[in-house]
Amino acid sequence: MENYKKDFSFFKMNTVIIIGSGPAAYTAGLYLGRADLSPLILEGDNPGGQLLTTTDVENFPGFDSINGFDLVSNIKNQCLKYGAKTLEENVISLKKLEEGHFELVTPKNIYLSKSVIIATGATAKIMQFEGSQKYWGHGISACAVCDGALPMFRNKNIVVIGGGDSVMEEALFLTKFANKVFILHRSEKFKASSIMLKRAKNNEKIEFICGEIISAQGDTNLKQIIYRSNKTNENIVLETNGLFYAIGHTPNTSFLSSEFKLKSSGYLKVKKSKTNVKGAFGCGDVADNRYKQAITAAGSGCSAALDCIKYLEELS
Ligand code: NDP
Repeated sequence: MENYKKDFSFFKMNTVIIIGSGPAAYTAGLYLGRADLSPLILEGDNPGGQLLTTTDVENFPGFDSINGFDLVSNIKNQCLKYGAKTLEENVISLKKLEEGHFELVTPKNIYLSKSVIIATGATAKIMQFEGSQKYWGHGISACAVCDGALPMFRNKNIVVIGGGDSVMEEALFLTKFANKVFILHRSEKFKASSIMLKRAKNNEKIEFICGEIISAQGDTNLKQIIYRSNKTNENIVLETNGLFYAIGHTPNTSFLSSEFKLKSSGYLKVKKSKTNVKGAFGCGDVADNRYKQAITAAGSGCSAALDCIKYLEELS
């Protein structure tokens, strides 16, 4: 294995490697494929990203309603049609060796590439308690904007857990469909900005409760949760058909070498799509702690591909 470091000619030099497998990665693949650059996509062990955990997507323009799996499969098939190649390999290390020369390591192989697009997404933090797995996708979700408008939640009670801007935004969004929205937070202190907190507090459909979740119960679908009240220290039963986590996301950046700059939030730092490392571009949720939508990820995948094409033209 050591010899490869001395003789790189042993390895094929790819023009561009995309790391990831959600809408950002496959959209980048589509644009780079259509530019005749034969992108290689290293998809990870479980391709598809967060859309795989989304049932009906009703906010991707052009589709009245589409299953998350179908949406991401469609984008993937479209990029394969234009010459992208995919491999289910997990990149465990990415570093730049010299200008126009990146090294990517997976458990199976070492890949070299003139340029890279990082589209590894972010993983929504989830919680573990009695019933949390049983009702996952049957009332429990980690994305209110993706799933909140589904018929199963309309005119019902919904609980959202968290204390940051996300929980305020998601609770406000859910008031459009729900009968009542409860914000369940583990303390009296909120990370949310005062303007978001005020907006939620002023909404008559939103009620704040302070406590920790104990269990989720129901039949096939969620019907109630039990939480321990911080005020009384008692277990309280709350009838609800929905439980959404809004406790933050973890961007998938652990494989990046230390030369890559991250934001203080841990997300990849990009200027438009350019990272601080020339020839490496970032798109989708790995670089976005604000919008986190399939459509914004796809749009940023397009931008990253166009910036990458320009970089490759200047390199040659
Ligand atoms: P935050 O990290 O700001 O907040 C996460 C919240 O979840 C915290 O209140 C935290 O509680 C709680 N939490 C974390 N883990 C657990 C757990 N295991 N059990 C119970 N509660 C838990 O994340 P957000 O997603 O809210 O926001 C991320 C960033 O995105 C922020 O910078 C935010 O400002 C930004 N954003 C901005 C928006 C806007 O401007 N409209 C909308 C959405 C996000 P505790 O406080 O006790 O630690």
